[in-house]
Amino acid sequence: MSAQIIDGKVFAAQLRSRVAGQVKRLKEDHRITPGLAVVLVGADPASEVYVRNKGRQTTEAGMSSFEYKLPTDTSQADLLALIERLNSDPEVHGILVQLPLPKHLNADLVINAIDPAKDVDGFHVSNVGLLGTGQNAMVPCTPLGCLMMLRGHLGDLSGLEAVVVGRSNIVGKPMAQLLLGANCTVTMAHSRTRDLASICRRADILVAAVGRPKMIRGDWIKAGATVIDVGINRVARDGKPHLVGDVDFSSAAEIAGAITPVPGGVGPVTIACLLANTVTACCRAHGLPAPEGLAV
Ligand code: NDP
Repeated sequence: MSAQIIDGKVFAAQLRSRVAGQVKRLKEDHRITPGLAVVLVGADPASEVYVRNKGRQTTEAGMSSFEYKLPTDTSQADLLALIERLNSDPEVHGILVQLPLPKHLNADLVINAIDPAKDVDGFHVSNVGLLGTGQNAMVPCTPLGCLMMLRGHLGDLSGLEAVVVGRSNIVGKPMAQLLLGANCTVTMAHSRTRDLASICRRADILVAAVGRPKMIRGDWIKAGATVIDVGINRVARDGKPHLVGDVDFSSAAEIAGAITPVPGGVGPVTIACLLANTVTACCRAHGLPAPEGLAV
């Protein structure tokens, strides 16, 4: 293996420590405690684990954590009423509605009911528009974390060829916008892309956000490229559940210059970015500049 491993756990720990430092400063200098509200509807076990982790890391960073666990049959009206309450609660600076929502709820309507200034997931259409036009937005946590790791590893990204595989609203599209904003030459690929392998081979930066285990192999990668594997796929190995990325790690690590592992790559940084976004939202709500290193 020749690639350098970009260790998401180490990166996330450093980011969480910067967040905790900013929280301390906000408390001491301004008597403000940033607060994050997380809303979970239903009892999806994976979502429950995510929500628990988010709550724990929020309090560990010194912030207030508000958790709302609602039954699966919660009505759209009741959920919207809760969001309205959180929108007007001055102790809540960030609101996250855990996705996916049960089928009877309209996720677009719910997300767009969140005050854009508190939309720490960055999924509200206003934030999508702000990001697309290069203005101060709340940026979705996963692509924000990917950009931070890329900058941490490569420094200035200007002029680099970036290929993003996957065009979802939560990862692929905002990732491409961020890379464009960082002056990369960006190609977006998806399920209808022709000759994906040769497009991937062009990339100095290759971001895989597909949801297909080990789809991108070493011979699709340019020598020395930086590979960010966003995929989280549950597969069975020796009869036990196992997590793998969208990139075939062992063959990719032979040729890439640097690569994020799965698990322990993008995943931990995503939650740390949620905390960073909450601090950014809190600062902006109080007319303070967003702290250096927590926002883009
Ligand atoms: P979506 O299913 O919403 O999007 C997948 C994208 O991949 C689509 O744009 C789709 O193309 C494209 N795609 C599917 N098959 C192929 C193919 N054979 N060749 C090229 N492109 C293909 O997924 P998400 O963006 O939500 O998530 C992607 C992965 O990232 C998942 O594994 C998910 O679990 C993981 N993830 C990880 C996070 C983290 O914190 N690390 C956070 C969020 C997601 P088309 O549009 O044409 O259908």
